[in-house]
Parts: sequence; C-alpha cells; structure tokens
Amino acid sequence: MMSTISSQDAIALEEKYGAHNYHPLPVVLAKGSGVHVWDPEGKRYFDFLSAYSAVNQGHCHPRIIQALTEQAQQLTLTSRAFYSVKLGECEKFIAEFFGYERVLMMNSGAEAVETAIKLARRWGYVKKNIPDQQATIIVASENFHGRTTGIISFSSDPDSTRNFGPYMPGYITIPYNNLQALEEHLSNPAICAFLVEPIQGEAGIKIPDEGYLKKAYELCRKHQVLFIADEVQTGIARTGKLLACNYEDVRPDVLILGKALSGGVLPVSAVLADDEVMLTIKPGEHGSTFGGNPLACAVAIEALSVVRDEKLAANAQLMGDKFRTALSELKARYPQTISAVRGRGLLNAVEILPQEDGRTAWDLCVALKDMGLLAKPTHGHIIRFAPPLVITDEQMAQSLQIIERTLETYTTS
Ligand code: PLP
Repeated sequence: MMSTISSQDAIALEEKYGAHNYHPLPVVLAKGSGVHVWDPEGKRYFDFLSAYSAVNQGHCHPRIIQALTEQAQQLTLTSRAFYSVKLGECEKFIAEFFGYERVLMMNSGAEAVETAIKLARRWGYVKKNIPDQQATIIVASENFHGRTTGIISFSSDPDSTRNFGPYMPGYITIPYNNLQALEEHLSNPAICAFLVEPIQGEAGIKIPDEGYLKKAYELCRKHQVLFIADEVQTGIARTGKLLACNYEDVRPDVLILGKALSGGVLPVSAVLADDEVMLTIKPGEHGSTFGGNPLACAVAIEALSVVRDEKLAANAQLMGDKFRTALSELKARYPQTISAVRGRGLLNAVEILPQEDGRTAWDLCVALKDMGLLAKPTHGHIIRFAPPLVITDEQMAQSLQIIERTLETYTTS
C-alpha cells in the first residue's frame, strides 16, 4: 500500500504540533474498508472501536461514499439562509425512519445535546410555565454527553471538568439506574426534562436494569417532564435494535442522534421531536452554519438506508451474542484476567483485572494491536469491543481467535 508518511513520523508530527488532548494507542491509520483498517506500512487490523460507534456501516461504505462524492460535485453548503433541495428530503427521511414529526440537524453529538437542552428549557418555559431562569434538567451520574462548557457542567468525571469552570447551573444529578431518586425530583415544578443514555457508553457500557427506561419514561410522563434519550452512541443499530430504547418500547419525547448518522463520513447529528416541542424554537433563535448542509443530508439518507437494507441491527444482535458467548468462555478460562463481560448487540465491555506485574487493560490493548485487532480501554480497566456492524461470521471468528491468542500470552507471560 502506498503512503507518503511512516507511522513513526505521523506520530511525531501529532506529538509536536497537536494539542495533547487525547492519548491514542500507538497505531497510525491510513486506510479503512468495512471492518478493516490499515497502517501506512500496510499492516491490517480489525477495528473493534469503530470510531466510538460512528462507523457502524463499516469504513468507507461504497454506497455512502458514492452519495458523498455525487453530492460534493453538486452543492455542499448553502447555510440556512436559503432552502436547499436536500434538507427537506433528508428531514422527511429521518423523521419517518424514526417515527417523529420533526428533525433539527446539527453536526457533532455535543451540539445535538445542546440543542436538546435548549428545546427542553424552551418547552419548559412556554408549555409548562416554569418561571424564567429556573428550568432544570435531571441527569444521571457518570453520564457522557460531550465536551462543551454547558455539557461538562453536569459531568461527574473530574477529567472532564477540572479547571474548566465556572459551571452552568440548572442541572440535578441523580444516580444512574435509580428510579427512586428520579421520582423524588420529578415533582419539583421547575424540572423540564430528564436526559439519559439508554446504556452509558463512555462510563463503560453500563446497562440499566430491565424496565428502568420504561418506568423512567412513565414517571416523566406522569410529572409532565420530557424524557430525552441521548442515543448518539447506542443508536442506529449498534445495540441490536435501531435504538437502544426499542428494547423497552420507549419512544423518547426528544431523541438525540449523531455518529453513525453519517456512517462516520462527516459530522452529522440530529434532534428529533414532535411539533409540541420542536416548534417552540422560532426563526433566528438557534442554528448552525453547517447544520443540515446538503452534503450531510445526502450522506445521512444513504447511511440510514444502508442500516436498513443490510439489516445491520439483526447482524449486530447475532454477532454480539456470539462475541459475548465466546468472551464468557474466555472469562471462565482466564479468571485472573477477565472479571466481567457485558453488552448488548455489538456494544460490549470486558473488564480486565490488573496483573501482578502492573500490566493493565492498556497493555492488553497494545498486545491486541500487535496481533491485529484495535480496541481501546476506558476508565483504565474496561475494554470496549464494538466492531462495525457489517462484520461477518467469519470475520468475527477470526477476531475471536486473535483475542483468544492474545489473552493466552497476556495471562501467562
Ligand atoms: N453523547 C454520547 C452518548 C456520546 O457517547 C458522545 C460521544 O462519545 C457524545 C454525546 C458527543 O458526541 P461528539 O463527540 O460528536 O460531540
């Protein structure tokens, strides 16, 4: 494979000229196709991170890339000062795909979360008659909703918040998966919304008890509070259904999507809601220069069509079951290394025990990389395994073989 730069040089450039706001695994990627990525030297890896679940449809999916390049030659950006031939088509497509009346398109996941917060507050003032400046949103501890100063104001992760204050008021944090705490706060008349991840992704794939989402939704309804689901990471077939909320037949009042909405091709996010909520924001009151641009629209339509046509939710469910069955067997074989295996669909976590010689999940990820599979630790001891949803039976078997062989040497060495 041709590349103009070596891995070593690429790393050196990032180290010297880039901000040090990430700590990447020592691997450089030059090319991707389906479940595979390649480094500049031509070594191939299975991608078991999928850009944090943005490339559910696989790297450089031909249909999505075709939609991208065709649209790129016609029109890329109009701003919302004018109508475009693609925006309405895309809004209709997304609204019908997920069963909502309206869509507001943004770019990053964090922007979509900010949008949902503004919608919820606005709705709280104009529909629930919350007194000015008092609208309050309930959030769950250990949440991850993005990196803006507004969003980190309700993060419980010191790495996200330390020395970034002052923080924005207007949030109440309750423990995740705790209905009693939710109910205690819902009767407060200043509450306009409950914002929650159906599975906490960045916290380490934390799955709430069965019935939690359904009951939380019902409690919100009872207290005239909006139920907002952040499905930026869990959505778009990742967990084995189109949305993680589908597992409990919950239709959020406000749904937040991002990442795989573009198949990882460019930043596209969206907030979905019905008229009662969405139409509380009027012209000039919210927006983004790039939000809903024609390129994003063409790509999003194709990215969602691929999810539907290739039945990626069903494949995620099937392959996820295989993965967890195999990893549970490995846990039984290597109890000194693996302490827990959990997940839904192809959003999985494996908890790794520290070794006597001080090696951690990071070292296991480096060993996996050397063997040809990329995964990343979160919170020091949890490895997320989330390959593109297009992974085949054979590719999953090969990946499991790599994991098994790596664990064997990791545990005994
Ligand atoms: N919400 C959730 C649940 C996420 O997992 C993420 C990113 O990981 C975000 C929001 C933020 O998305 P972005 O990084 O595109 O701003």
